[in-house]
Amino acid sequence: MDLGIKGKTALVCASSKGLGLGSARALAEAGCAIVMNARGAEALEAAAEGIRRDFGVKVTAIAADITTEDGRARVLEAAGTLDILVTNAGGPPPGAWTDWTRDDFIAAFDANLLTPVALMKATLPAMIDRGWGRVVNITSVSVKSPIAALGLSNTARTGLTGYVAGVARQVAPHGVVINNLLPGLHGTDRMVQLENAASASSGKSVDQVRAERLATIPAGTYGDPRDFGATCAFMCSQFAGFMVGQNILLDGGATNSTL
Ligand code: NAP
Repeated sequence: MDLGIKGKTALVCASSKGLGLGSARALAEAGCAIVMNARGAEALEAAAEGIRRDFGVKVTAIAADITTEDGRARVLEAAGTLDILVTNAGGPPPGAWTDWTRDDFIAAFDANLLTPVALMKATLPAMIDRGWGRVVNITSVSVKSPIAALGLSNTARTGLTGYVAGVARQVAPHGVVINNLLPGLHGTDRMVQLENAASASSGKSVDQVRAERLATIPAGTYGDPRDFGATCAFMCSQFAGFMVGQNILLDGGATNSTL
């Protein structure tokens, strides 16, 4: 399917691995020039080279921490004028509500609320001027169904969801659409980290933790970052213009709700 975005330029943040990489690859397959970012230069360059080789599009890779003002400034300067923005960053660590400090909350807000807000503030004006733009924020299933150990994530991402609900309707008249994409359990490095943390805190083996997690997913597997990326690319496509301020859940049916 031609998504109608060939030749557009897309910034995909935090994209040397996992869901960000799946999204960058799917947008490259749709013909977009890609600006990608991560902190670690080696994995980032390897991921960028893979995209150039597989899809023949222009790829600009910027090693920077997207949660810092300086990192964002460097990425945005290299990106130039953008048609598509996919916000993403690492998720906060798991823990217990009794331990989280003000500094822990500020760090989570910086990474998973204020960073996407700053990126949207920087890029939406040019999209509005040109009458077309797409933004996808990678958030989490936790905004629909809280994950107790990820309270920092629950809190920061729900704040972003509220922000997007209002702003998406303010920019929609200008041909700019903003939506959120909510991953449930996907088979990425982040998942391995969370399995290890759950194993350490519960005394269960990693295999047991994984089996228990898989048992919560009606689809019976972890999500595939490639499928996630394809959904992201569709949400950035010409065909997504009537999808405004939505929260699209990809969780294999794990969240037990009717709507
Ligand atoms: P992942 O496999 O660990 O990949 C994270 C990517 O983000 C890496 O490329 C990493 O590279 C980059 N990154 C992390 N922090 C960054 C920063 N401050 N600045 C720039 N790049 C950064 O993680 P994932 O599973 O794809 O998760 C992506 C997001 O979705 C996270 O926020 C996660 O909490 C959320 N999520 C994931 C799942 C899941 O099941 N996987 C479920 C719900 C929500 P460097 O480390 O080199 O920077």
